[in-house]
Amino acid sequence: MAYVINDGCISCGSCAAQCPVSAISQGDSQFVIDANTCIDCGSCAAQCPVGAITQG
Ligand code: SF4
Ligand code: SF4
Repeated sequence: MAYVINDGCISCGSCAAQCPVSAISQGDSQFVIDANTCIDCGSCAAQCPVGAITQG
């Protein structure tokens, strides 16, 4: 399962900068992960300051 960003996201952008495969982009109200691109490395979850990224 890919990682997912929940509504706790404060759109800081740290996760997107960290992702090795550029699977994270800014959506309408928060950042989002493209499940088809994510390789489940976990780097974004470790980076998020508010713990908004979890393994789905
Ligand atoms: S788990 Fe890794 S590959 Fe997937 S979105 Fe996060 S940083 Fe990118
Ligand atoms: S690191 Fe966390 S708070 Fe920052 S944009 Fe990513 S999901 Fe949102």
